Amino acid sequence: MLEGSAHGREQGAFLFASPAENGALRVLDVTVLRREDFAMQTAYYLELQENVLQEMILHAHSTNTALVEAHSHPFTRGPRVRFSPLDCEGLADVGPHVSWRLPGRPYVALVLGWDAFDSLYWEGRQRGPQGHVDLLVGGQVLRASRESERFWGEVRG
Ligand SMILES: [Zn+2]
Repeated sequence: MLEGSAHGREQGAFLFASPAENGALRVLDVTVLRREDFAMQTAYYLELQENVLQEMILHAHSTNTALVEAHSHPFTRGPRVRFSPLDCEGLADVGPHVSWRLPGRPYVALVLGWDAFDSLYWEGRQRGPQGHVDLLVGGQVLRASRESERFWGEVRG
């Protein structure tokens, strides 16, 4: 998991994944974002420089992979990790945009706390997230908290 240990700030990464058996995605490559990739990087908020998402989309396009964004919540302990209201506001635009730019594959967002994670994904031309993804790490299935799906339904309808 990504830890917020670097001065307690949120950290972020993009993963590039290819579709495998039964709708699974196999992660092929990871780009860990650096300080200069962010317009803002605090303990509670990350904002990318304008060109970063565009570069990630182009890389996914040229390698024919699905794009997965991941960021940490260094302030979240325990099982009930979820995307923040600001995360959801951003994802409401970015999710449908990326899944439109990269047709035929999902756009996945992960948020990682100290003890748990959550996820949402977009596919096709749907406005809202279609569900969550679980992770298979070293042969072990790690389940998403699914807190964000519930939260999304409450807040964004
Ligand atoms: Zn967040």
